[in-house]
Amino acid sequence: PSIPLGLSFDNSYGRLPERFYARQNPVPVAEPRLIRLNRGLAGAIGLDPAVSDDQLAGVFAGNRLPEGADPLAQAYAGHQFGGFSPQLGDGRALLLGEVIARDGRRLDLQLKGAGQTPFSRRGDGRAALGPVLREYLVSEAMAALGIPTTRALAAVTTGLPVLRETVLPGAILTRIAASHIRVGTFQYFAARGDRDALELLVAHVVARHYPEAGAAENPALALLAAVMARQAALVARWLQVGFIHGVMNTDNCSIAGETIDYGPCAFMDAYDPATVYSSIDQQGRYAYANQPVMAHWNLARFAETLLDLIDADQTRAIDKASEVLAGFAPLFRRHWLDGMAHKIGLAETAEADAPLIQDLLETMKTGEADYTNGFRALGRAAAAPAGREDVRGLFVGMAGIDAWLDRWLARLAVQGRDPAATAAAMDAVNPAYIPRNHRVQQAIDAAMAGDFGPFEALHLILARPFEDRPEAAAYAAPPEADERVLRTFCG
Ligand code: AMP
Ligand code: MG
Ligand code: MG
Repeated sequence: PSIPLGLSFDNSYGRLPERFYARQNPVPVAEPRLIRLNRGLAGAIGLDPAVSDDQLAGVFAGNRLPEGADPLAQAYAGHQFGGFSPQLGDGRALLLGEVIARDGRRLDLQLKGAGQTPFSRRGDGRAALGPVLREYLVSEAMAALGIPTTRALAAVTTGLPVLRETVLPGAILTRIAASHIRVGTFQYFAARGDRDALELLVAHVVARHYPEAGAAENPALALLAAVMARQAALVARWLQVGFIHGVMNTDNCSIAGETIDYGPCAFMDAYDPATVYSSIDQQGRYAYANQPVMAHWNLARFAETLLDLIDADQTRAIDKASEVLAGFAPLFRRHWLDGMAHKIGLAETAEADAPLIQDLLETMKTGEADYTNGFRALGRAAAAPAGREDVRGLFVGMAGIDAWLDRWLARLAVQGRDPAATAAAMDAVNPAYIPRNHRVQQAIDAAMAGDFGPFEALHLILARPFEDRPEAAAYAAPPEADERVLRTFCG
């Protein structure tokens, strides 16, 4: 029996033809226990605050359905590390439906880890506690940083053991997203030559995410440009905070432009453009600095699915799509330059400042400086001469950074803004607290031993990333040698 939660469902994806998904109920679990409800987000989507934690645990574990839900597993395909799989789909996720939030936004409500579906292939349809907590912490940290992302509404433990390399406690994440439609959703139908489905999907996505593209002369081409614009902006934001997604496969590339699928993701500590954490990314395909290249590659795969709709003439369609795709690099560059210029306190950006930014990054690399703390300390150096020592202390061998600081301070002087205003502007874009990999791992390790205190504490710190707090200082510290986590896993 379903339970009223006060949510107003309107399941538009479920009204698409049957071949877009497989209707599937969650598989009940033995012992649902609520780890955490995101109360702010729950309020925003209209969840009735009178519902008890026990009832919520049952709902978020998939044992009971919210009134108005219509659970289904979405079909999709995808390029994984460059190789195409024509059928992936939600193997362990279920879309409960779409809720209309208080502000009118339509949001997907999805359970991740709710049991097998027709797309599970050899998988168990389940999620382990560690990856659920990682996604909760990191996606909520991204939201607090102001970066487009799926959100975590709730996490529960299931009481079911999950078999990976070892036996792990099972958990389920409830995820909120603008939608879960991906480049891989388009690829699924393109691979089948299903033009009708592609037309329906374009119409659905345009109505839902890009209404302005619907009014364009060529809606499919306008959709490509609009999705590209959001991806370019998104990946620039990732680089600006040192985020490494880790598994930028086309099935993890959101059409709505949100960061999605927090598997082996991590934030870098010391700056190195070649940084990779994911255990399965052996070639560095998804390394920190390669992310814009891979976003562009994913968009080219998206473009391929739209060719027939862009122009009936194949050659003309390719020309038009290529022209749009050629705009990615300059667009990304503009977002990147704007964001990086703000990080070093420049209100106005110009291409002429690019060498100053690039030289700082190179100095950080040779000086093994912590990326986050490096930029945060620059804010203190902009505010007062004494701050200069904070910056120098982060670099191994200070010669390079001394010369750079002189150049930078001279550039700030030309700008002529009040130093306190510059410092405040920098502090508003350079976080003090990011979900450092070793902290996330410590929170997970403690939770696996039954103590959710460190998870809660870390979550609280990350909710206000730009606000220095003395009691939070330890969370800003990079890992000690014995705390370092060099590898992350898909889970
Ligand atoms: P991901 O690496 O999380 O993007 O997942 C890639 C594909 O594998 C998707 O189709 C997932 O639904 C599927 N998948 C991942 N883990 C499992 C699992 N434990 N059970 C079933 N399917 C899974
Ligand atoms: Mg995925
Ligand atoms: Mg995943």
